[in-house]
Amino acid sequence: MLLLTTVFGCTSSQNPSDNSSQAQISPSARTDGKKKVLTTFTILADMARNVAGDKLVVESITRPGAEIHDYEPTPSDIKRAQEADLVLFNGLGLERWFEKFMGSVRNVTSANLSDGVKPIEISSGSYLNKPNPHAWMSPNDAAIYVENIRKAFVKLDPANEATYNANAKAYIQQVKQVSQEVKTQLATLAPTQRYLVTCEGAFSYMARDYGLQEAYLWAVNSEQEGTPQQIAKVIDTVRQNKIPAVFCETTVSDEAQRQVARESNSTFAGVLYVDSLSEVGKPAATFLDLQRYNAYTLVQGLLGKSK
Ligand SMILES: [Zn+2]
Repeated sequence: MLLLTTVFGCTSSQNPSDNSSQAQISPSARTDGKKKVLTTFTILADMARNVAGDKLVVESITRPGAEIHDYEPTPSDIKRAQEADLVLFNGLGLERWFEKFMGSVRNVTSANLSDGVKPIEISSGSYLNKPNPHAWMSPNDAAIYVENIRKAFVKLDPANEATYNANAKAYIQQVKQVSQEVKTQLATLAPTQRYLVTCEGAFSYMARDYGLQEAYLWAVNSEQEGTPQQIAKVIDTVRQNKIPAVFCETTVSDEAQRQVARESNSTFAGVLYVDSLSEVGKPAATFLDLQRYNAYTLVQGLLGKSK
């Protein structure tokens, strides 16, 4: 924290009511006059870019593959937020570091993209009855995120309102279209095959929307991961239901899930993307591709076709 204070010493005014130093470092005058938007993670950045088009500069604080729940912001993250015009976050308790983070930043607006989502409660573990934060995995809820992005952009930059409205409308159409593709893919599974076994319980919204049974090792990445009790419970579920394939996410260790596969006569059938996009050039570099890739991986695995 000492370092953060040092970084901030040069931009913070001693007098809270004196905004003159803020005005001088306003980013509006930079990046070709475009305002700058920061998001907490890559998926929100992709959604935001689709709404922004070329009117705003959008960047993610965390990189592809980064752990999001317990991320530790660096002094340069705080500097970037201080220089941004708007910070978009997921809310629902996803970014456990966010409140403290924004407490280090002065006079920068933030917008909670899950505002208006009806949360699913976490049903086990140390976060029992807290909201499951992974609402973007539901296409309907993703549309709420896009609408919240649109509203925040119109407020930030009213001159380009028409562009944001049109982009948001077109992108929501694309999200719905991919949701149909996913439904079609999952329809190739028999009702008894519709099991989604993952490391984190991050797929509850997806499971609800697409009619999948969900099982996971731990509810949220912020709690203990891969304890013997968690592993034993999932092994029982996989054995009892003869589930042919289990999965894990890209941002956590898959070791515990590989053990589940070995001890339950199942197959570890690949990684799924949920808390982060992939790097560009890998299969889930956009939110729409993430949905397509997860559905494909899931279906291949459950039909016993994965490598
Ligand atoms: Zn997560």
